[in-house]
Amino acid sequence: MKIIDLKCAIIGKSPVVRIVTDEGISGYGQAETWKPFLKPHVLAFRDALIGEDPTDVERVMLKIRQRGGFKPWGAAISIIEIALWDVAGKAAGLPVHKLLGGKVRDKVRVYNGSLRFPFTGYEPEDYAEDVRKMAALPEGFTIIKQPIGFHSAMKREVPNFYYGEPNKSPFHGALDRGKATEKGIAHVVACVAAMKEVLGDEIGLALDCGPGWMVPDAIRLAKELEPFNLMWLEDLITGDYVPWVNADVFREVTRMSTTPIHTGEQIYLRQNFKQLIESHAVHVIGPDPADVGGIAELKWIAEYADLHGILIAPHGTANGLLGLAALIQVSATLPSNYIAFEYTTGDPDWWYDIVEGLPNPIVKDGMIDVLTRPGMGVDLIPEKAKRYLSVEDADFFD
Ligand SMILES: [Mg+2]
Repeated sequence: MKIIDLKCAIIGKSPVVRIVTDEGISGYGQAETWKPFLKPHVLAFRDALIGEDPTDVERVMLKIRQRGGFKPWGAAISIIEIALWDVAGKAAGLPVHKLLGGKVRDKVRVYNGSLRFPFTGYEPEDYAEDVRKMAALPEGFTIIKQPIGFHSAMKREVPNFYYGEPNKSPFHGALDRGKATEKGIAHVVACVAAMKEVLGDEIGLALDCGPGWMVPDAIRLAKELEPFNLMWLEDLITGDYVPWVNADVFREVTRMSTTPIHTGEQIYLRQNFKQLIESHAVHVIGPDPADVGGIAELKWIAEYADLHGILIAPHGTANGLLGLAALIQVSATLPSNYIAFEYTTGDPDWWYDIVEGLPNPIVKDGMIDVLTRPGMGVDLIPEKAKRYLSVEDADFFD
């Protein structure tokens, strides 16, 4: 089998890659909803892929893997990897999890970071009300993740949250950092107490916290939150779009408290997880298959983390329905350090009309049945998807 073309269309706002083969099989991959600017980056790999056998996934990846970077610049490579596995699975007549070594679970747990309600405020009662609505969702999520502190408008909306000036940029990442005030830390703790009051011990609570915290504050926060038995504190030091890891700084925080410390959604490739894992710098890692270099890359990192006693909760909030399928396939194969992956939805809603293969409902009791049809387990329906293509992308399915 040979690759004869690589195409990229923006469907909704998501870049979608299509690998076209000489045997009539196509493979698809989807990047985060808010990354339409990646299209030229995806297409830059077209010439390198044409003529290659897509079922030799690793051999193809060796040609292109070094041309990616930390989020968002690993996404193009990552979704090409996912599309290659989709082709390989379809060619073999097997679901992709079989090619990754087979599934170790029939259902995969997901956590909710995606189905959200507009925030009404940043006071404890607002957080309590928000998790009450999330807990009542028909998906029956058993873990909920909330943005808080530097990972939310709390840093601007709560007066004197920290000794610094919130930036006015629409971007987040390493821009807002600084020493938190005593009042700021107390406010976070009060909001957590209000949410736990609602959730009890039935639904786990994780917090997306930064980046932005300074080490003494991060330690203090983690210690003060110990009584609430949180699932994890995410990205206190670095994370999101920050193109570095700072494993030694994470380690300082992680060693000081029993509250699990988490990072990793922006990190590209196993090499950049090496120090984080080997130095036991965090308790939980959260690579995103559509940013880390793909699903086989994520599996390798998960296995290596397990050897070191580190848990994994893959990121994926905006990966869309094709991204959801990739998360399901790889999560089915991960070792027992797997907690849950971050659920992702169709955005806009018409995505549910143009994809086939997902169960209905998708999530039951916070779990998703592992998809069993050949390839990634879902497919775009060209006749239905065509109407959402721009003029520029009109030949995407040809
Ligand atoms: Mg995050």
